[in-house]
Amino acid sequence: MSGFDAPPDTRSLSTLIQALRRLPGVGQKSAQRMAFHLLQHDRTGAQELAQALQQAVQHLRHCQQCHTFTEQALCQVCQDEGRDGSRLCVLETPADQAAMERTGAFHGRYFVLMGRLSPLDGVGPRDIGMQQLLQRACDGQVQEVILATSFTAEGEATAHALTEALTRRGLQVTRLARGVPVGSELEFVDLGTIAHALADRR
Ligand code: ZN
Repeated sequence: MSGFDAPPDTRSLSTLIQALRRLPGVGQKSAQRMAFHLLQHDRTGAQELAQALQQAVQHLRHCQQCHTFTEQALCQVCQDEGRDGSRLCVLETPADQAAMERTGAFHGRYFVLMGRLSPLDGVGPRDIGMQQLLQRACDGQVQEVILATSFTAEGEATAHALTEALTRRGLQVTRLARGVPVGSELEFVDLGTIAHALADRR
């Protein structure tokens, strides 16, 4: 299985390569290239990377309310009492949330799925915090749930499943309008387009 036959005295190298292979989209070859690069050309960077990983794993957790990454119990947006609690925008990633924030067009609250339904990759309702979202949306304050999952096949399937579950609980559900190009991740869409898609939601 290991394409790199490490002699016993370089075991830490093969351990590093195996660890790098955990990253999405990184196979044996790329993992080797990364390991060799760090060890040969950028030992300082390697130390920084190791430290940053350790810090992040130690300190980052999920916001109790919106599920995004935070170093506190509640993230900054959830702590902000000036936001409109009657609207809840559901997104796939913290990067998508940041994009929505940059438009300045949304003043409600968020729920970040940290992924999207993908049965083929074994990502089910539990992995996207579906139960948490349903609880969050049924807090008595939320009147409209705006689904801003990506316009990819999986993002659409996720929106569909969420719509069913949320409307069954009597919530009003809207979806970003079609101005956003098909197949696109919100994170990479320009701000004006997102703002329009938000304004024209149905
Ligand atoms: Zn939060």
